[in-house]
Amino acid sequence: MRNWKTNRTVRIYILIAALCMAVICFCVMNQKHSENINQNKATKEFFAMDTYITMNAYGINAEDALMQAADRLSALEQLWSVTDSESDIYAINHGSGQPVSVSEETAKLLSFALQMAEDTDGALEPTIYPVLTAWGFTTEENRVPSDVELTELLGDVGYERVRLEDNAVQLDSDMMLDLGAVGKGYAGDLAVEILRENGITSALLDIGGNIQTVGTKTDGSPWKLGLRDPFTGGTLGTLEISDGAVVTSGNYERYFIGEDGKRYGHIIDPATGYPVENGLASVTIIAKEGRLCDALSTSLFVMGLDEAADYWLQHQNFEMIVITENGEIYLTDGIAEIFTLDSNHSSMKVNVIEHE
Ligand code: AMP
Ligand code: MG
Repeated sequence: MRNWKTNRTVRIYILIAALCMAVICFCVMNQKHSENINQNKATKEFFAMDTYITMNAYGINAEDALMQAADRLSALEQLWSVTDSESDIYAINHGSGQPVSVSEETAKLLSFALQMAEDTDGALEPTIYPVLTAWGFTTEENRVPSDVELTELLGDVGYERVRLEDNAVQLDSDMMLDLGAVGKGYAGDLAVEILRENGITSALLDIGGNIQTVGTKTDGSPWKLGLRDPFTGGTLGTLEISDGAVVTSGNYERYFIGEDGKRYGHIIDPATGYPVENGLASVTIIAKEGRLCDALSTSLFVMGLDEAADYWLQHQNFEMIVITENGEIYLTDGIAEIFTLDSNHSSMKVNVIEHE
């Protein structure tokens, strides 16, 4: 009996020792794998879509994958630029009321933008361009248009009047499209798609502040992203993300100070033609797809806090962080676990928007 017990104890010790060895081997292999992947880090920095782009990817194919993704982004810029006379958007805007045939990518982007415009009740307004131009945001010769001018220009704004059939787009002759509020997010998704097709499982793309991630860091931990402080340009806190996108909109990004001393931002309320002024400093959206983040960061910024919270309650396919001009933070409840406020901002009031 004693012998049997002793044998059993010995077997248990052997089993524990074997398990420990296996765990140690696994950790060493994992570390080696992570080191190998880290050695295969590739970086690409360039300017496209009117913004600075930095892409980091890891893996044996990383260099080539990034090259393909960069080529894709540059090609999309050529299709979607408002000012390039060779672009699809330029052709649509100069179609003099006639149908214009565009590439499949442009038709898909426009279809997404129109769907989001409808879903946000016109807070996202892909035809706001004539109003933006009046404010000088397209030329950097900023001015404050008169009420009469804005009312007249708003007559040429209305996503419902954009006709998209297959790959043909038709606008009324004075209407103009600008897909700047969704294009970078949509293009980011296409770049991510290319990286995945090339077998990349770890990558971080920064497309003018739009962050898109593939997988996790090479050690398996989530990407740590800084949330920008809209007041100082520093960091407010840290977000931990894997396989998702984070996009922020705010009127601090591009604005001018008028002769009246007032600050006018680049996100326009399509209901009034004036830059949004609703007490919000920034809206950050976190979701799987960059296109959704981009469309919603702009449109929920237009909606304001209460409507944005209602929209979140009704949709639930994203999370958000809203910062108000008086320095309060509103988080949807799914984000509380992945967001940490920096200790030097711990005095900021944090409110959680909860499911009902
Ligand atoms: P984002 O940086 O993604 O928030 O997009 C802002 C850009 O979208 C602006 O610089 C304008 O070109 C354009 N824009 C401004 N207001 C709107 C709006 N209400 N709907 C759609 N696009 C807008
Ligand atoms: Mg946007």
